[in-house]
Amino acid sequence: MARHDWFGWERVEAPRATREQLERVHPAAHVDRIEALAAAGGGAIDLDTTVVPGTWEAALRAAGGAVALVDALLGAGEPCGFSAMRPPGHHAEAGRAMGFCFFNNVAVAARHAQAAHGAERVLIVDWDVHHGNGTNDIFHADPSVQFCSIHEWPLYPGTGPASDTGSGPGEGYTLNLPVPAGSGDAVLCSLVEHVVAPLVAEYAPALVLVSAGFDAHRADPLALLEVTEAGYAVMTASLRRACAEVEAPLGLVLEGGYAVDALAASVAALMPVLGAAEVPPPVEVPRHPLADEALARLR
Ligand SMILES: [Zn+2]
Repeated sequence: MARHDWFGWERVEAPRATREQLERVHPAAHVDRIEALAAAGGGAIDLDTTVVPGTWEAALRAAGGAVALVDALLGAGEPCGFSAMRPPGHHAEAGRAMGFCFFNNVAVAARHAQAAHGAERVLIVDWDVHHGNGTNDIFHADPSVQFCSIHEWPLYPGTGPASDTGSGPGEGYTLNLPVPAGSGDAVLCSLVEHVVAPLVAEYAPALVLVSAGFDAHRADPLALLEVTEAGYAVMTASLRRACAEVEAPLGLVLEGGYAVDALAASVAALMPVLGAAEVPPPVEVPRHPLADEALARLR
């Protein structure tokens, strides 16, 4: 990114999320527990989620970066932005850290959009290769946040079948799009262009956030999808066009991505599309049978 002079973007240091911002999503006891564990020198929460002394500060900044992104989009009127922070967030449930995630950054951002900026509806697209179980769970019964996840299945954490569509008043506001191992640009770009983009138009959110993991990349060691840098750029173009139609800004929040070169190349490929002065022209994305199946389920 530095090599590309940050694509001309303004860079802002992520502030710490406040207690009030975190507690719109997480019970105080959960926040206290992470703080206490870090202050005590750290410890394991589960097999792959370990608190170290620096975790508290890092997790506050990752959530705070997502909040600052929302302020830039809904407060300062920027059309697009990217919070490139770790640790990731989409596996964190309201009361439980898991899967490298302590606070659910994108959920904290969505609640901030509602509480601080009056956004009535927020749409979250999760294209990380893993199901965003935490985000799915937090907004399961809430029609004011539409959640759409594209993820390899079966894979960690095992949640997110197509049959999970929300509950109670949130029934129909969770869209899970599991895809088999080996799926690549043809599948994921088709799902974004032909399923998610129309959903943006229909839901007309005030803000679209992306749980932007890059572990669906073909080089990623943790999963078996085959997405390329070009695929991430096409998905970004589809979302930018969809957002422009409903005049919603588009914010990306970094999640997973464990092949560092592939992660960097993917972000470098999509940044010019995300930040283009003009809305990108349509790209011909053939409709994949998995997109037809998903559309049939939505009807
Ligand atoms: Zn992931």
